[in-house]
Amino acid sequence: MQSTSTSLPEPMSTDADAGLTIQSYGGLLVADAEARYVLQASRNLAGLLGRAPGEAVDRPLEQVIGARLTHRLRLELQGATRLTAPLTFSRWVGGRNRRLQLMAHRHGERVMLELEPLTGSGRRRLLGAVNQWLTRVAGASHPDALLEVLVAGVRDMTGYPRVVVYGFDGLGHAAAVAESRHAACPSLLGQRFAAHALPPHLQGGDGDFPVYYLPDAAAPAVALTPPRDPRQGARLAPQASALRAPSAALRRFLDGIGVTSLLAVSMPGDAGVWGMLVCHSDTAVALSPTRRDATHTLVQMAIQRLFLLKARVEAGFLQRVRDSRDLLSEQRGQPQSPRALLATHGGEWLELFRAAGAVLVHGHELATLGTVPPASLIDPLVERLAGAHHHAGPWHTHRLGEHPVTADLPLAPACGLLAIPLPTESGRDWLMLFRAAQADSHCWSGMPGSARPAAGPPACPVLRDALADWQRAVQDSSDAWERIERLAAMDLAEVLAIVASAHEIAGLNRELRQEKASLAEANRRLERLALRDPLTGAYNRYRIEQTLDAELSAAERYARDCALLLFDVDHFKRVNDGHGHEVGDRVLIALTEAIGSALRGCDYLGRWGGEEFVVVASSTPLSEACRLAERLRALIAGLEIDGYPESVTVSVGVAAWRPGDDRKSLVARADRAMYRAKRQGRNRVVSQADRANEGAQRPARPPGEAT
Ligand code: GH3
Ligand code: MG
Ligand code: MG
Repeated sequence: MQSTSTSLPEPMSTDADAGLTIQSYGGLLVADAEARYVLQASRNLAGLLGRAPGEAVDRPLEQVIGARLTHRLRLELQGATRLTAPLTFSRWVGGRNRRLQLMAHRHGERVMLELEPLTGSGRRRLLGAVNQWLTRVAGASHPDALLEVLVAGVRDMTGYPRVVVYGFDGLGHAAAVAESRHAACPSLLGQRFAAHALPPHLQGGDGDFPVYYLPDAAAPAVALTPPRDPRQGARLAPQASALRAPSAALRRFLDGIGVTSLLAVSMPGDAGVWGMLVCHSDTAVALSPTRRDATHTLVQMAIQRLFLLKARVEAGFLQRVRDSRDLLSEQRGQPQSPRALLATHGGEWLELFRAAGAVLVHGHELATLGTVPPASLIDPLVERLAGAHHHAGPWHTHRLGEHPVTADLPLAPACGLLAIPLPTESGRDWLMLFRAAQADSHCWSGMPGSARPAAGPPACPVLRDALADWQRAVQDSSDAWERIERLAAMDLAEVLAIVASAHEIAGLNRELRQEKASLAEANRRLERLALRDPLTGAYNRYRIEQTLDAELSAAERYARDCALLLFDVDHFKRVNDGHGHEVGDRVLIALTEAIGSALRGCDYLGRWGGEEFVVVASSTPLSEACRLAERLRALIAGLEIDGYPESVTVSVGVAAWRPGDDRKSLVARADRAMYRAKRQGRNRVVSQADRANEGAQRPARPPGEAT
């Protein structure tokens, strides 16, 4: 610090700032960084301190505001950029004692001292009012109700006839979201001001001066004395002081909405400025610094409460979405189709997300609920989204008709879409929430002559007239999807993907099981076709030959017995001729059933061809085989067959394996025996042992040939 030096501060660098003039309700002293000398003073200083600016400039600060005040000021500014609270002091001016307040802050290499006379009336009454409104602010339970309390409270505390809260959107446009007004004031509620139309003072405020007070826009501005040393040359920018006079732009703006006096309090948010509370009057308003402070305090309390309530509303919303998600998650064990999922949960989602309709696209399934675009457009929409959207987050718009991805799809009546990709492998599964167009009418205002932004309202020469005229009917837009809604939807999609996939997997498993079952059935059919005689169900010729071969090789290897019984139905032609082929068939079937039921598990029955059957009796010697044949013959002779009044008889030839036999030789012997049975009168059993002249009687014939 240069505290021992008595020389003037070094000149500051100059810049091309617009220069500072102040409002006449206060006075300004500009001092050096150590607050030792007065460098500049406002030209209205005499009315405040009883001392002409010329008597202040270049003087030590002590001489201008007094040693005690200077001492307190330096003490409180040490290491700080501004005083935490104004200092108050008294001065004998114009023959009476005046109370003044002093605010000070650092601005670059200077200390700015703002002076204002205090009108100390009604302080106690004010405190009561402040407390009352603070209590009401603290008790508000919904953001909208809170803003209502705030504007009413500020109007009560300041006496301004109109108090408005503007909210800023992401683009800097302001919209009047709450208002309290005297009946005579035209309402600004719902009015929108394009960002380009807002004067800098109202574009989210000035971080250094959260409160801007303009008692009378018509009052002439007060200039500062020029710095005596031109080397101190940097002109002070308007934003150097809370007392700054309104810019020409602000004057025009206020003139446009018929406002003479203004109190603006910025409302900071998490990210930049959330909004601004603005008091309007068409006449000049004198408002004591105490009331302005009180207003600032109320706004600060309200904004904190506002964010708390908003957080609470959001938390409540998130909780409800999570509840829905948990419910969904609990049903993971009972996979539901997209259609069933939407039917069960969709109604709640529509309510939660304020949506008119929902579409769930999963795999090849598509389910819809509520008001959604025609089904034929969902596929092209999914195509578009898949092409345009390549991350896990949601895709959203509140103007489907204007969005490049969807503009040429006639998706009406849907207007807003929140599309959440389900985290599945296909990359083509979506939960889509549609919002309807919101019939709304936006009033826009701009500044005369200001450039018209591409998508903004048309420029209008007289703003006051424009308030009524600049209605823009909004039909192609829905409520925008808020961040919290997008987050919650992602939460939901995660579980939705799991439940829908579980359903898909269950479906695939079912299909697989069905496929397996039909494959087994086909195999069974194939096996029947390949191995069984289709009429009787007995083994077919091919299969019985295989069996016989296997039995013969086992007999060969283990010297095991094996016998063959060859049956031929007697006079079967007569059955057919006398009763028809169908009855003949029935006889064959009845015969097969009778033989089959009388056989052991290790014997095989096959249809040799036509009305001839064979039985392969394993481990059976000739004598036993003959007994079996006789038993079967008798069984058949005693059969009663539906539709056939006579008895059916068979002639049976029996042959047993001998070493060196193959299928052909064995069958030939059985065949010859059977032939002998025919010749001996039919309905009898003849075995190979009864061989008298067999070779001479009948030559061997290929098996199956009609006898
Ligand atoms: P035989 O006592 O000498 O054996 O006299 P048969 O009438 O049985 O004589 P043959 O063996 O020559 O005649 C067999 C007949 O069996 C001829 C054929 O029309 C009939 N046939 C063959 N297969 C079937 C069939 O699947 N269904 C019916 N209904 N008849 C059949
Ligand atoms: Mg026959
Ligand atoms: Mg025959």
